[in-house]
Amino acid sequence: MPPKMIAIDGPAASGKTTLGRRLADYLGYLFVDTGVMYRAVTWAALQRGIDIHDEARLTALAEEVQIDILPPSQNDGRFYDVRMDHQDITWEIRNPQVEAAVSIVSAYPGVRRALTAQQRRIGLRGRVVMVGRDIGTVVLPEADLKIYLDASPEERARRRFAELQARGEAADYGAILQNVRERDQIDSTRQVAPLQAAPDAIHIDSDGLTAEEVFERVRELCR
Ligand code: C5P
Repeated sequence: MPPKMIAIDGPAASGKTTLGRRLADYLGYLFVDTGVMYRAVTWAALQRGIDIHDEARLTALAEEVQIDILPPSQNDGRFYDVRMDHQDITWEIRNPQVEAAVSIVSAYPGVRRALTAQQRRIGLRGRVVMVGRDIGTVVLPEADLKIYLDASPEERARRRFAELQARGEAADYGAILQNVRERDQIDSTRQVAPLQAAPDAIHIDSDGLTAEEVFERVRELCR
């Protein structure tokens, strides 16, 4: 019997989403990318002119906003729609302004409390592949398969760069590498739920492995 609850954690652009989505497809499970929720709150704050250093207002925002993740409405490379108050923000949450601010926003305990509660409620239903930074440690410590997916910062920046280019967006490798390093630093040193492998997580270093090879390894683990 395959595991019912699968947690995939790892640093920015380590391939968690690609792996998680494939695995969920393969098993017929729900795929939940928790980074989307932190990005959506960050986008809403920037949109509303809320100072991202105002922890109290950010917490209130995380408690109040309704983030919807729905089947894709357009055939433009998206895997799902992200909507907030009926507005389609699927690509907006990937912009450089959001990337620069999201780790600051996601370090606030109140923001995490609000989003973790939602994630846990979804995850506990089972038949789920959930990806993020703290899924195996905090959100779903009872997950029956935990993967910690890593790769060097250079490899991760290269992948992000290729993704942006494929979407026809301007991309600067140096700036992406710097953002990846900054997010790693903030995500792994924050007080609450830092990026960390659960003690019972299986580590996979994806440097030099294709997405296919990573998937094959994890598929083996599911047997
Ligand atoms: O995975 P992704 O790069 O989309 O995540 C964006 C940001 O959201 C991360 O850099 C991190 O700061 C935050 N995040 C988090 N906990 C999660 C998922 C994402 O703190 N479970």
